[in-house]
Amino acid sequence: MRGGELGVDGLPLAEIAARHGTPCYVYSRRALEEAYRALDASLAGVPHLVCYAMKANANLAILDVFARLGSGFDIGSGGELARALAVGADPRRSVFSGVGKSAAELRQALDAGIGCFNVESAAELERLDAVARASARRAPVSLRVNPDVDPRTHPYISTGLKESKFGIAFDDALALYRRARSMTGIEIVGIDMHIGSQITELAPYAEAARKVFALCDALAAEGIALDHVDLGGGLGIRYRDETPVPFPEYAAMVRELFAGRRERLVLEPGRRLVAEAGVLLTRVEYLKPGPVRHYAIVDAAMNDLVRPALYDAWHPVAPVRPRPGTPMRWDLVGPVCESADFLAHDRDLVLEAGDLIAIGAAGAYAMSMSSNYNARPRACEVMVDRGVAHVVRRRETAADLYALESPLPRS
Ligand SMILES: *Cc1c(COP(=O)(O)O)cnc(C)c1O
Repeated sequence: MRGGELGVDGLPLAEIAARHGTPCYVYSRRALEEAYRALDASLAGVPHLVCYAMKANANLAILDVFARLGSGFDIGSGGELARALAVGADPRRSVFSGVGKSAAELRQALDAGIGCFNVESAAELERLDAVARASARRAPVSLRVNPDVDPRTHPYISTGLKESKFGIAFDDALALYRRARSMTGIEIVGIDMHIGSQITELAPYAEAARKVFALCDALAAEGIALDHVDLGGGLGIRYRDETPVPFPEYAAMVRELFAGRRERLVLEPGRRLVAEAGVLLTRVEYLKPGPVRHYAIVDAAMNDLVRPALYDAWHPVAPVRPRPGTPMRWDLVGPVCESADFLAHDRDLVLEAGDLIAIGAAGAYAMSMSSNYNARPRACEVMVDRGVAHVVRRRETAADLYALESPLPRS
């Protein structure tokens, strides 16, 4: 941007802050579309369905951008299903994931006509069978198998190891498919895996997928033919110095795996499609240089971006209008009364109170993991489309926060 000043698609972030206030999430429609199209194009020739994993960011404007590009959705709760329906998404192009689906959620998804339930346990399969039979229907099902592969990522976002709460133990899957075949409320349509998040190597995918395909073949030998193989999500991005797997390399692996096979590919990318399309815009409230550490107290906090507190995650940080001068080493912290309330540690920056800072790669798992902790109204969300900033979620007010509450009646 002009004179080193930061912007999104030609729109200065300072203008967005002046108009909409801070903290504020800013998304780029262009960046969202580019990410989706790059992934989709790399898979040309492989019959596939991209199901955007909406827990990464479920703002309706984002869902709408992806739905218009032909994306389906990976839905993780009844609330997420309602969001997908709210933008007119076709439920048949969506899958329903999650270890703890309630009977009400199963019914809701069945009524909506969901494309596939990714079932994560024998108990869930029994429940789904009963729910489907009660309305004289058959629920389309994949079993999410746990291939017991280490994705070599943060333990909190590893999901495909034997000890994980996710998926069906690999060695139990064949027996459960046999059981599913005998259930009148169940229609077997696929198989599913999702080994973790922020994965930056191909090898764990290939290893897990090979196990899954071996299971497919064993099923086929018993007359259980699958329509699709769902390889899950988890493709990582560059926050600091990671090297993400380029889409063409992922696609080459997929091509090799699917060569000569009848099953269609389903994938569930979340972070990779949205993380880099968003920044969290925040303003420095106070500078508080100290005897040991120097604190820049900003108006965004752990309730707006919990990843640093939760995973010790590193996000890029950049002043919106860089100043000349000698940098000092700052910790960026929020106003919340917790020592875990930090957004970044040890950043060499030239800062003054009132400066705007852009926290990068905040399109994924930022707003969607936000909270109202400390009675902090949630920040607004803005999407830039062809140089114009649109508010896609207004800033919450304090009254919004207690609108659902009431004191006991006075007696
Ligand atoms: C979270 C999740 C995803 C998306 O993971 P990313 O790392 O954001 O790509 C996909 N599938 C399932 C089942 C998930 O829980």
